Amino acid sequence: FTPAELVAVRADFPLLGRTVRDGKRLIYLDSAATSQKPQVVLDTEVDFYEQRNAAVHRGAHALAEEATEAFEHARQQVAALVGTDVGEIVWTPGATMGINLVATGIQNATLGRGGPAAAERFRIGPGDEILVTEAEHHSNLVPWQELAARTGATLRWIPVGDDGRLDLAGLEGADGGRGDAALINERTKVVAFAHVSNVTGAVAPVARIAAAARAVGALTVLDACQSVPHRPVDLHALGVDFAVFSAHKTLGPTGVGALYGRRELLEALPPVTTGGSMVEVVTMEATTFAPPPLKFEAGTQMVAQAVGFGAAADYLRELGMEAVAAHEAELAAELLRIAEIPGVRVIGPASVGTLGEEAAPEAGLPDRVAAVSFVVDGVHAHDVGQVLDDAGIAVRVGHHCAQPLHRRFGIAATARASASVYTTLDEVKAFREALAGVRAFFGAE
Ligand code: PMP
Repeated sequence: FTPAELVAVRADFPLLGRTVRDGKRLIYLDSAATSQKPQVVLDTEVDFYEQRNAAVHRGAHALAEEATEAFEHARQQVAALVGTDVGEIVWTPGATMGINLVATGIQNATLGRGGPAAAERFRIGPGDEILVTEAEHHSNLVPWQELAARTGATLRWIPVGDDGRLDLAGLEGADGGRGDAALINERTKVVAFAHVSNVTGAVAPVARIAAAARAVGALTVLDACQSVPHRPVDLHALGVDFAVFSAHKTLGPTGVGALYGRRELLEALPPVTTGGSMVEVVTMEATTFAPPPLKFEAGTQMVAQAVGFGAAADYLRELGMEAVAAHEAELAAELLRIAEIPGVRVIGPASVGTLGEEAAPEAGLPDRVAAVSFVVDGVHAHDVGQVLDDAGIAVRVGHHCAQPLHRRFGIAATARASASVYTTLDEVKAFREALAGVRAFFGAE
């Protein structure tokens, strides 16, 4: 962004104008937890309630038609952001629920609830494997642990290297083939992994992992929570089967997210939540289900939030995701300079590079995002957070819902600074200055 463009972007976010802690300018560096919302998202939601609020997909009156139109238009806006067909986007209450939908849908198919074709496509049981990574957010780990426990399948994981990136040496096995030792082999049924780690900011080689999974007929489930808000994401080009992301991290409202599924998979996958709105014919004995995506949207949906999500998707597309990625790559480089402060150690890639041709379709994009987790020698992460908070700087502290990854690095907690479209280099510099004083404050020097 040019300086003028960035000033204009910031002016779109009313919350950024407030102060905290006795008049200090707020420096919000916790966008990986949840982003702030531009005025257009707030206005769109209010406008929906003021002008269009009605139950969607049922009433025959004018208002119901307008509400349905707004709801379905939002689905198109979100589909356009991630390069999918509109019918491949299922509304969910968030990314966590989307992953649970897929995992439980697979279990339902295994139980025969989707008929023979679904059982054939999704069946999982003893001897089968589910592959995740050591870097996953608990939301993309616990549902797979549960599926494994319920079906007798085995959970395996791709380890993380010292640089915070996935260690793919074992992906194809020592002989480069798909023997038993390979992490992706003939028994692999599901490969679930994050596009971008919410702790290290590292970008995973999605297309490579998806191709290896496809070669053995395994399903891929991409956690795109930390990529969709920050870089161009084309889910068709990446070649994944399912993907999830959250509105609230993508400049949109809380309470809504999206699940992408390849059309034929959404058609075959049995529903998980059942009830009103997701049916075709109901008798006292049995029910036929609506086609996807409605099959997965039982009950009254989060309509105003979905409409707000649509506005957020358009806002980002108008900024241009290439420009967003370039702006945030600059911020990432500036954030990473905290490693120059004595006693500060970054957990994850130490620099920002550009993905090469082998990463197509992501060639030319940054290889990490502007979410930087770190430890300060001799000072607990919570104390780091508190000193920064006293200066008006909001960072996240703790394990960021990724306990195994923290255990991998032998630490219980980190502090994390993360940026978004509205973050400025000046804010990052002010954060670095405040962080430089932390060890002295605690007498750790
Ligand atoms: N995956 C990742 C990588 C995340 O960062 C988050 C949110 N912290 C989630 C999943 C869960 O998203 P939600 O809470 O919106 O369901």
